[in-house]
Amino acid sequence: MNDMNVEIHADACPCCDGKTQIHWVEREFDWKMGNQSFQVKSRIPVEYCQECDLEFEGEEAEIRKHDAICRTIGRLTPGDIESIQKKSNMSHKQFAELAGVGTASLSRWKNRKTIQDESIDRLLRLISQPGGVLRTQIAKSEADTSCGKILTFRGLQGTEDQLRKKSRNFSL
Ligand SMILES: [Zn+2]
Repeated sequence: MNDMNVEIHADACPCCDGKTQIHWVEREFDWKMGNQSFQVKSRIPVEYCQECDLEFEGEEAEIRKHDAICRTIGRLTPGDIESIQKKSNMSHKQFAELAGVGTASLSRWKNRKTIQDESIDRLLRLISQPGGVLRTQIAKSEADTSCGKILTFRGLQGTEDQLRKKSRNFSL
């Protein structure tokens, strides 16, 4: 077990079904977010088939490139989000509720379909602080048993206003 690439499983060649070998390469690519462009650097495993000379990138390469994008633009990686959830001892649904997002959104971030925006990224980092989950839960239970002193979140008010406006528009 002295092969440094042993943790990566080499797939069969998609072209000839032959055995492939893994080579680690440094890749640099541009990634666009809005009108900003980022230079992303990533070290990825590239698979090479000796029989037909095909070189291809497997799932592991995709995972590493996605992680590199997240780090370059300053966002948590899907793995980071998973480990924050694990540390908080919550189910997927509970964690989505705590963060105030839909379970489908949380799935998309975990499955590398999309990257969470900056505000939710900050919230997840706050939750991950020592005592962060606890504080958030206390705040939530205080809000639940509110005696009128707890302020409504501004974000929620905004959403309700927008809903009201929308329903007004619909009634016209
Ligand atoms: Zn091949």
